[in-house]
Amino acid sequence: MSFALHGLGVSEGIAIGRARLMSHAIREVAHLTVTPRQAEKEITRLDAAFNAVRDELARLKEGAGGSAPSELFVFIDLHVMFLSDPELTEAPKAIIREKRCNAEWALVRQMEHLVERFEQFEDPYLRERKYDVVQVVERVVKELMGHPARGLPRQGKSVNEEDLVVVAHDLSPADTIAFKAHNFAAFVTDVGGATSHTAILARSMAIPAIVGVDQARALVRDGEWLIVDGMRGVLIVDPDERVLDEYQIRKEQHELERAKLKRLRSTPAETLDGVGISLLANIELPGDAKGALEAGAEGIGLFRTEFLFLGRGDMPSEDEQFEAYRKVVKTMEGRPVTIRTFDLGGDKSLDTQRTPTNPALGRRAIRLSLAEPRMFQTQLRAILRASRFGKVKLLVPMLSHAQQIDAMLAAVEEAKTGLRNDRIAFDEAIEVGGMIEVPCAALAINMFLKRLDFLSLGTNDLIQYTLAIDRSDEQVASLYDPLHPAVLMLVAHAITSAVKSGTPISVCGEMAGSPKFTRLFLGLGLRIFSMHPSQIPGVKNRVLQADTQELAPLVRRILRLDETPKVVEAVEKLNTMEKES
Ligand code: PEP
Ligand code: MG
Repeated sequence: MSFALHGLGVSEGIAIGRARLMSHAIREVAHLTVTPRQAEKEITRLDAAFNAVRDELARLKEGAGGSAPSELFVFIDLHVMFLSDPELTEAPKAIIREKRCNAEWALVRQMEHLVERFEQFEDPYLRERKYDVVQVVERVVKELMGHPARGLPRQGKSVNEEDLVVVAHDLSPADTIAFKAHNFAAFVTDVGGATSHTAILARSMAIPAIVGVDQARALVRDGEWLIVDGMRGVLIVDPDERVLDEYQIRKEQHELERAKLKRLRSTPAETLDGVGISLLANIELPGDAKGALEAGAEGIGLFRTEFLFLGRGDMPSEDEQFEAYRKVVKTMEGRPVTIRTFDLGGDKSLDTQRTPTNPALGRRAIRLSLAEPRMFQTQLRAILRASRFGKVKLLVPMLSHAQQIDAMLAAVEEAKTGLRNDRIAFDEAIEVGGMIEVPCAALAINMFLKRLDFLSLGTNDLIQYTLAIDRSDEQVASLYDPLHPAVLMLVAHAITSAVKSGTPISVCGEMAGSPKFTRLFLGLGLRIFSMHPSQIPGVKNRVLQADTQELAPLVRRILRLDETPKVVEAVEKLNTMEKES
């Protein structure tokens, strides 16, 4: 019987294939009573399983080399950390001895206890880590149950992997890395969000994926025909002939479109009226720079360095940071590299940080940097040292007050003086810029223009703070509205003021990478965009068909609209105009 399920489409494209269900070991665990002597054997079995999984993760990490998305390594390291945590390795042993039960059951009981504790964290990042605990336990349980293949879909002789859609409750980072060696048509999972590692991997492999499809693993049967529409987040199970034909046509159209866009890689981003547009890349870890180059990025517009600090027990040293920054600068071969100082706190908190009531309004980003001068100096010195190897620009997040900008500039001077005293070379003329991501910064932009060399609009946070919507809370996600007139007013004011004063300004929030906003931004006067590398071809395509002279007056009219639906309609019209002309 044909039916449709809905989830969150996290990687575009359409796939048609047969379902391959991944096993869900935790649910299959038996509860057995054992004798005291058997209990000791269970403990030995548990130790052996932990060791085997630790070795396996190390092998996977090594084998994945540079081809896997770098964020995955952060998750793998986190899993390795959990695998050595006595809460997971030792506590179940006490349960085995006390309750006289088998190793699998003891481990699952301890996992449930830990998950409950994680659920009580206020910090959403820490709360999310419960999924990592479950994934780690799932692997160990599979090892205990003698499933060395981790429940990875076995390759049937008669079916090509390109025709298989993996359906799982959840996929761990290690599963996803192992998938790189396979060639599956699509992924579907019961749980997960847009920034889950499954989503990240699927995007980097350009494979359609839907996450958060409630009960998919339970409702779909192995071998059943599936259509995965990664754009709309729709999973069609057992489709009829007519629907299959329709989706086959859509799939071919999408693939044709993608091939066409790929060919734009070396085409300069220039509008019809001859205005050159800079399309830069956002990266999270040094290994991402290669992908940025391959996508045709003219440079790095945002290097989110805080990912170097997350998922570890200590701070990266000056030398470690320097090596990471230098690697990016070298990879980019003279193209500009904008390194943002750590944006920690908020939803990216360090293990050592107290969780405030409102993390997004607390000691985040530059506020934390100024409160932790040693940590800030270490990073500034590392960035300055890397500036000798190419064109480095220094970007500082979440600035809001004039005194804060001055204190930040003084810290940069202090780092420079220290390096001069140590006779270490750096670019004396390094440009220092600020993120405009708090409404007060967009409104009182003159204090930024007076003091800084360049600006970057962080629309993700600007929208969060303007509309008072926690960007990591799915309960208010529907209110997250990039085309709210208040957001547009702030964006327009910031861009116009910067252009007037001759200060370069870019947009590096998610809005910059969405082709549906490209013409709007061009009409507002924006000339520098920074986005995920995979989004560059789509935005470039829009740039090539735009005429800034024609767009400017139309966008001025949009700015006068006073309600979101009217703005949405007008922006849609602006985009369809392109197709008509
Ligand atoms: C933003 O806020 O738009 C931005 C680019 O920074 P982040 O997403 O890292 O907060
Ligand atoms: Mg931000």
